[in-house]
Amino acid sequence: MQNQLFINGRFVDAMDGATIDVRNPHDDSVVTRIAAADAADVDAAVAAAGRAFPAWSRMAAAARGRLLLRLADAIEDHAEALAQLESLDTGHPIRDSRALDVPRTAACFRYFGGMADKLEGSVVPVEPGFLNYVQRAPIGVVGQIVPWNFPLMFTSWKMGPALAAGNTVVIKPSELTPLSSLRIAELMAEVGFPDGVVNVVPGYGHTAGQRLAEHPQVGKIAFTGSTGTGRKIVEASQGNLKRVQLELGGKGANIVFDDADLDAAVNGAAWAIFHNQGQACIAGSRLILHERIADEFLARFRALAESIRIGNPLDPQTEMGPLTSAQHRDRVLSYVGIAQEQGARLVCGGTAPADDALARGYYVMPTIVEARPHDRVAQEEVFGPFVTVLRFRTDDEALAIANATDYGLGSGLWTKDLSRAHRFASAIRAGMCWINCYKRVSPGSPFGGVGQSGYGREMGFEAMHDYTEARSVWVNVDAVIPPHFGR
Ligand code: NDP
Repeated sequence: MQNQLFINGRFVDAMDGATIDVRNPHDDSVVTRIAAADAADVDAAVAAAGRAFPAWSRMAAAARGRLLLRLADAIEDHAEALAQLESLDTGHPIRDSRALDVPRTAACFRYFGGMADKLEGSVVPVEPGFLNYVQRAPIGVVGQIVPWNFPLMFTSWKMGPALAAGNTVVIKPSELTPLSSLRIAELMAEVGFPDGVVNVVPGYGHTAGQRLAEHPQVGKIAFTGSTGTGRKIVEASQGNLKRVQLELGGKGANIVFDDADLDAAVNGAAWAIFHNQGQACIAGSRLILHERIADEFLARFRALAESIRIGNPLDPQTEMGPLTSAQHRDRVLSYVGIAQEQGARLVCGGTAPADDALARGYYVMPTIVEARPHDRVAQEEVFGPFVTVLRFRTDDEALAIANATDYGLGSGLWTKDLSRAHRFASAIRAGMCWINCYKRVSPGSPFGGVGQSGYGREMGFEAMHDYTEARSVWVNVDAVIPPHFGR
């Protein structure tokens, strides 16, 4: 298990020797102690990435792609160990780490490995006699700050397009969950990535993260995390006017109409909120039910929620593990009181499990509350296994409730009415909409939000473009330009 910073191709201690304990969310034990990067370490990482940039950006795009493809293979070769590490560090049930996190990480690196030599420029039809072509040039050193909810997968979402496009990277994982990104760095070194192309600097947000966001030699900062921290990133980025991409919070509307296939909708709604203990920006955390089916739906949804197997994430039977930190568990549970103070009805959950075997871990029972659209639990991101139920009578009302939030990331709807499905997909203010499914992601499909959920897109050509600058080149082929001045 790597527990040092990865700078210029080597694992090193922090310059001031600082460390942070990494805890197992299942039982609060210390798994390891990792080096904690401070501003000076971030400076060293940025300098290394700057030195690596000229050669990396001039390397044949196909050769960069080949390294990403080799990395994807290496991830698959070490799949089981990576899955165990991710579950130990984050609390993801091992069955999800095996079936989702690891394969999706490999698939995303592979997708961008294949894309490296497919990013084309364009030729613009301009006046006769001139040729104007547009190249997509890499930005330079990019900083990436990722949170603790999907730390392994986010290495590929963030680094895949950045590296394929020819940038070099300094990535700061959350100090709560740094282990899988350090392992990815080790695999990158093994498969032949040149020194300095990728640097990993776990550390606190207000020190290491802040320095990366403000660093004058960083050309772009890509951030995933809370909306509040996103604002701080924008402020910190102003010094050199670096480009900013923000993937922030959400309050996903998941609407169930009265013609929906209820079996599919109940299952889909449970997946939408309880997968990864609800710690997902795209979680379907507002369940908006047509009043004609609401009681039946809620009875079935509650029964399913109460049947979810909660336990040690390393047990293959476990369907829901602990939250990632004790502080976050407390924050999630505090929303039960907030809901009740505003008159919301607690349908189930709202506590830690009674099981003594889980008493030291950061567990929270699946929690359902019924509230009104403007209550805090219908507006604020709880980011846990906590879903707010709202009821509607008409389509207009459903849309108004769905859009009554400043967030706009994931959304979903369950109906057999094709026209309504497409109408809502266009009318819901969100970056993504799932119809009769929820939380589907693919490396080729743009991922990101509107409003307080941020801007810029991950995945696909959109992400590649976001990691490049358009460079316009004019060539006088055979045009005669009359003089403007003199003779
Ligand atoms: P943050 O947004 O604070 O943290 C995300 C990342 O940003 C971490 O690596 C963090 O480091 C870093 N960071 C924190 N402050 C700064 C700063 N000033 N400059 C640069 N980087 C910084 O999320 P929290 O962990 O505090 O979680 C709070 C809430 O945020 C959650 O309850 C949830 O609602 C939301 N959230 C949303 C996520 C999403 O995917 N949209 C992901 C995570 C959280 P450090 O860990 O040291 O603070």
